[in-house]
Amino acid sequence: MHRSSALDFTPSVSSPARRWLPVVSLLALFGVQHGHANDAAQAQLDLQSWPQVTVPASSAQVEQRVEKLLASLSTAEKVGQIIQADIGSVTPEDVRRYRLGSVLNGGDSGPGGNDLASAEHWLALADAFHTAAMDTSAGGHAIPLLWGTDAVHGHNNIIGATIFPHNIGLGATGNAELIQRIAAITALEVRVTGQEWTFAPTVAVAQDLRWGRSYESFTADPQRVAEYSRAMVLGLQGAANTADFLRGPRVIASAKHFIGDGATWRGQDQGDTRISADELRDVHAAGYVTALSAGVQTIMASYSSWRGQKLHGHPELLTNLLKQRWGFDGFVVGDWNGHGQLPGCTNTSCAAAFNAGIDMFMAPDSWRELYQNTLAQVEAGEISAARLEDAVRRILRVKLRSGLFELGAPSSRPFAGRFELLGAPEHLAVARQAVRESLVLLKNCSRTLPLNAGGHLLVTGQGAHDLPMQNGGWTLTWQGTGIDNSHFPNGESIFTGIQAAATAAGGSAELSADDRFQRRPDAAVLVIGEQPYAEFEGDVTSLAYPPQQHHRDLQLLRSLREQQIPVVVVLLSGRPLWIDDFLHDADALIAAWLPGSQGGGVADVLMAGSDRQPRHDFLGRLPFAWPANGATETTPPRFTLGHGLNYSSPDACP
Ligand code: BGC
Ligand code: BGC
Repeated sequence: MHRSSALDFTPSVSSPARRWLPVVSLLALFGVQHGHANDAAQAQLDLQSWPQVTVPASSAQVEQRVEKLLASLSTAEKVGQIIQADIGSVTPEDVRRYRLGSVLNGGDSGPGGNDLASAEHWLALADAFHTAAMDTSAGGHAIPLLWGTDAVHGHNNIIGATIFPHNIGLGATGNAELIQRIAAITALEVRVTGQEWTFAPTVAVAQDLRWGRSYESFTADPQRVAEYSRAMVLGLQGAANTADFLRGPRVIASAKHFIGDGATWRGQDQGDTRISADELRDVHAAGYVTALSAGVQTIMASYSSWRGQKLHGHPELLTNLLKQRWGFDGFVVGDWNGHGQLPGCTNTSCAAAFNAGIDMFMAPDSWRELYQNTLAQVEAGEISAARLEDAVRRILRVKLRSGLFELGAPSSRPFAGRFELLGAPEHLAVARQAVRESLVLLKNCSRTLPLNAGGHLLVTGQGAHDLPMQNGGWTLTWQGTGIDNSHFPNGESIFTGIQAAATAAGGSAELSADDRFQRRPDAAVLVIGEQPYAEFEGDVTSLAYPPQQHHRDLQLLRSLREQQIPVVVVLLSGRPLWIDDFLHDADALIAAWLPGSQGGGVADVLMAGSDRQPRHDFLGRLPFAWPANGATETTPPRFTLGHGLNYSSPDACP
């Protein structure tokens, strides 16, 4: 095979790709220190210049019921409604006693303190919380509670559920209709275990890929974020004014993290977003505008700041923009103790966040004291009765709208307890389609691909047979760590998928831990990539592939090449990485993102049919520009946003 020693990649810069180039923050580019607290005053928001939104109208019947119920509640009951506790720190008895409005399971929480509890346990616990909320034996009103969960790439906290590619991979598919179907399946699987609310979609428009949450962002192109955000909200919630809106197989969605989470300085999680008001509006509001017009019922506030002011304490953005100008009539939920980060606040006391526009505190372990302190703040007038009523009105509206008062215990609702729907074959098929469509071909020298399925293939590299690496963070556990293939009963690794395709075509595949093999292969598939991570633990200072892995994996690649074995590199990662050495040495290279549980989708595209022709073409396009070095402000990038080869591309061997 022809090879060149010079590093020579000519990214194809198509004109539509140019149009997608993300807005680069000039401040960040020049490293200008900006956005200290006193800067906030200078950042004037001209709300008249922000887009207008028409949210679906509320029904008179819902509004009348809200007012009637609201008027009957005691102050203590109202305070209970605005507090959300984590299931790791609250019992059904606490919910009954404090009349709490909501619970959540954080990334590391599961029924009975077990993150890996069975689906049956999740449903049973949902019933226990519901029963407690409806128990009026000691007085109070029966108000169903909301259980929120991070179903962000499928119902990913549940063993056996369908795990879809993370948003970055969905962004690569460019297929909004597919995203809507994925969201609908996710909602249905959430209903199986009795929850009714997911903290999705993330509509962040990530700018600096050192951010450990970059993979939760669809793309750097705001127009496309807007399109996918709408699709995901429609898939999760159903369409407003239709019979299954927020009920049946649908759930309540939450667009997050409001606003500007994707543009923090140096990509620091929970950091400061040092951009102009125009950029905040033109880039980072895009996903909210469409989510709101599609009827999203909740918005989660961001941990991050805008120009030095924490979003949890930003009345102009939370109240004046979101609720007043945009007419949002659902509720704003805080992020995990996010209120505690405001100046003068603690996790257990923060009138300022509530007064700024947070309607429900996410107070996982801090809820009990927060409840007491908030009640005292209402009694002392630090929080006005009107503000409290406004928040409770919003929460009750969402509960009434979603039909919760008419439904019984979670286990009695449509689809609940139908555990066979978790990872149902038709759901897995959609996940596999998403994997196929998300793959971005970056190199295919001398027609190495498609691979001959009738031959013998070596599959190697750390990611070859590793479902946690395929799934990434927010999968069974918070960071996606501490689990192995055995936790994915419906999962298929990339190796298993290749083996199945090879066997079906009369060929064979062999899994290896390194460059050794039992039988000389016709080609090798080397699966490399990042280890799982989630928020802040995934932040990095450089986009270079981590040095140790780089060294080990490059040795493996070179050793195979020296033996005249063509090598196809598959990269599993939550973001584009600087991997020029691999791009140079590999015969073919594919960015596979974090594809989730259905690794068979990789073989579908990489391996030829019995006629030696591709069975599926590459459809994926880069959702972010690809770096040409480890720094972030890559000028010019190795490949621009929108780039992606396919089987008709001219052979671009160096
Ligand atoms: C994250 C949110 C998530 C919440 C609940 C927070 O730390 O920022 O995205 O929804 O935890 O798990
Ligand atoms: C929780 C996550 C949460 C994080 C925030 C973790 O312990 O499980 O859901 O987002 O803490 O710090």
